[in-house]
Amino acid sequence: MRFLAAVALTAFLTPPDPCLEFDALYAQIRDRTIARDAARRRVTALIPEIRGEFYARGGADSPPESWRFPLQGYGAEAIGGKNGSGYMPAGYDWFDGYKSRGHPGHDLFIHDSNRDELDDLTGRPVTVVSMTTGIVVATALEWKADSVLRGGRYIYIYSPQQNGLFYYAHNREILAKPGDVVAAGQAIATVGRSGRNAAQTRSPTHLHVMFLAIEDGYPKPRDIYPDLRRLGRPEGRPF
Ligand SMILES: [Zn+2]
Repeated sequence: MRFLAAVALTAFLTPPDPCLEFDALYAQIRDRTIARDAARRRVTALIPEIRGEFYARGGADSPPESWRFPLQGYGAEAIGGKNGSGYMPAGYDWFDGYKSRGHPGHDLFIHDSNRDELDDLTGRPVTVVSMTTGIVVATALEWKADSVLRGGRYIYIYSPQQNGLFYYAHNREILAKPGDVVAAGQAIATVGRSGRNAAQTRSPTHLHVMFLAIEDGYPKPRDIYPDLRRLGRPEGRPF
């Protein structure tokens, strides 16, 4: 009895991990099981706590020169569309969850002509790296082929420096978990074909990357095309 009481007390005294809370909150937003105003209040409350955790766990801001193109071994030529035309934010609202419209991000295509998630040249998965330093706040490790969810196996990383969320979707495998502090260039996933549309044969294998700036608890998309172009220059490739 005394043991149980001690366990209960410990659980009570241990502060909840805001990254795990955000992970659970995002699942509710994604699945549309939480009201928009309540969700926004939770985001507003959690972000300062997550920011504190990032620095408390050894995170440090990194200058733009240290950022990395998110696909290892690839560069700006992988960016879909013409001159950044893949970015279509009209009609998008993060709080619409899986019913959100638009395409407020960029698709980065790998060489995978037979759609087996492996690079045609190397025969191996392509590594996704974090563009900036940050802390992992949400992941989906599993995805079922009949799911209506568009992102498949995704990972969200909060960057305190930009006060925003980087989102990497359609992955084959997720290599980090909520609460992990990551550096720019650190492996976080491998490119895959998970997601309602990404899994279709007609869809070439790609990484979907999006950045959301947080304004009063409201994540709003921003176009990172200039950064992708800059980081994807041949001379800027670290690999
Ligand atoms: Zn996309």
